[in-house]
Amino acid sequence: MRLLALVLLLVSAGLSTAQADELPIFDAHMHYSHDAWSVVPPREVVEILKKAGIKRAMVSSSNNEGTKMLQEVAPDMIVPELRPYRSRGEISTWARDPTLIPYLEDLLSKRQYRAIGEFHIYGADADLPNVRRVVELAKQYGLYLHSHSDADAVTRHFRQDPNAKVLWAHSGFERSEKVGEMLRRYPTLWCDLAFLSAHVSNGKVVPGWRELFIEFPDRFVLGSDTFTPERWHYVVENARWSRQWLSDLPPAVARKIAYENGDRLFGSGP
Ligand SMILES: [Zn+2]
Repeated sequence: MRLLALVLLLVSAGLSTAQADELPIFDAHMHYSHDAWSVVPPREVVEILKKAGIKRAMVSSSNNEGTKMLQEVAPDMIVPELRPYRSRGEISTWARDPTLIPYLEDLLSKRQYRAIGEFHIYGADADLPNVRRVVELAKQYGLYLHSHSDADAVTRHFRQDPNAKVLWAHSGFERSEKVGEMLRRYPTLWCDLAFLSAHVSNGKVVPGWRELFIEFPDRFVLGSDTFTPERWHYVVENARWSRQWLSDLPPAVARKIAYENGDRLFGSGP
């Protein structure tokens, strides 16, 4: 019996050492929208995060109830983000919807958030009244704007508020030269790497992106973007893949991108 106890002790010690060696992750781009709740219930979400080694996640969800549900089961893991959509279909209509701003103002008066987003906006549409008002609300409440957009729309956010804090979603859709140019121009611009595979080839970071990560190690965060319920089943695999390409960077840079930047920017929130 004693031998068995010793073996069990050694096995569990080995496991915890292995887990501790894994780079923790701050995932800055997760969704838990209404259609995900029955497919992956809140407790299962928390299990997935733990299994993936994601110690904290910034979550938004269409109609915002999903974020609340996750906060209730794992308040220390979930950083809440205010989504300007009540249902999936509002991605393309929110910017012109007259009922949107009262909805956001109501939620902001009731709950605490760290960011507004992720919202989708491109080019000149970023100057529509609803988007301008979202930029104002972010300023008023000290929130990040999590913008799925092109460089033109990001530029318009900063024209409206030069001190805006913008988290550019899927910055990898843009060329690395352009992202570098934007980061140099706007000191309060950060980039998430959700769905960015252009920067990785065969598990290695490609030239262009490598220089960018090294020049701006404080400006990038990870994201697994669970935009459909099925994506929750890829979170563990995505975390593994992220650790793989991060290991190709200098360790201090990898740690920043993996979790230190997310912690510093969003982690101390409500
Ligand atoms: Zn997204």
